[in-house]
Amino acid sequence: MDFAAIDSQISALEQCIANTVPVSADEKLHVGVDLGTAYIVVVVLNGAKEPVACAMEFAQVIKDGLVVDYIGATRIVRKLVNEIEERLGRQLTHAAIAVPPGTGEKDCGTHRHVVEGAGLEVTTILDEPTAANAVLGVDNGVIVDIGGGTTGLSVLEDGKVTYVADEPTGGTHVSLVLAGNMGIPFEEAEKLKKEADRQTDVLVVVRPVIQKMASIINRHIQGRDIAGIYLVGGTCCLKNMEAVIAKDTGKPVYKPANPFLVTPLGIALNC
Ligand code: ATP
Repeated sequence: MDFAAIDSQISALEQCIANTVPVSADEKLHVGVDLGTAYIVVVVLNGAKEPVACAMEFAQVIKDGLVVDYIGATRIVRKLVNEIEERLGRQLTHAAIAVPPGTGEKDCGTHRHVVEGAGLEVTTILDEPTAANAVLGVDNGVIVDIGGGTTGLSVLEDGKVTYVADEPTGGTHVSLVLAGNMGIPFEEAEKLKKEADRQTDVLVVVRPVIQKMASIINRHIQGRDIAGIYLVGGTCCLKNMEAVIAKDTGKPVYKPANPFLVTPLGIALNC
């Protein structure tokens, strides 16, 4: 696995949040829409599958992989798509989306309708670990996706997902513990934990939450031959949380440059 190449691809996408890369009038665009518990992210790649634009918004319109505010979700996707169309000077027409593993057909349909309601035809519906693995290329190991609400695990053997699990404990719990410890509102804790120069102090306070995530991983990988742990999802952005996971699981841990963007990038790669 070429970690440097993965990191450079993800860093290029990160740059595209603020800077749009020009595209020609006729090249194919690959679009990924990630409907998450905490964020909705739209990623656009050019004909060579290189990142050209990325936009996101904090949104609480999805819960446990289910759309709980259909109108709100559609409105945000439409807004992000319009913003990117303006930046690129191109219309977006098609998109790939992803759902948590085990999402039923009816709920997949709702995700599809949100994106189609925003004007994009959905060409592919993937499961989230398969999307993340389009970027990571894990053959044997476990992808651990720690988002807003849950810690999700996907065990891969010979490149195929063979076991999945998803348990409550994610970034929301990190913020709740931080808010309680510091006596500040949840929203303030959400902001504070993302400040790069405060994260060393934040980790001291929220270490037990990260240890809980490690215990979830341990329980599910027990008795399996796991070569390594691959971290994705926004909560893994917390500085040095990977060291806690490595210590408590005793496994090698790989964390990409920006774990938050791995799944959205993988979705777009599959469009
Ligand atoms: P889920 O996977 O539970 O459906 P989601 O897909 O919306 O949720 P992500 O977008 O992967 O989840 O991650 C969102 C979480 O990551 C939020 O709790 C957010 O506060 C946290 N997060 C985002 N950026 C950072 C950061 N720089 N440092 C720490 N936490 C972060």
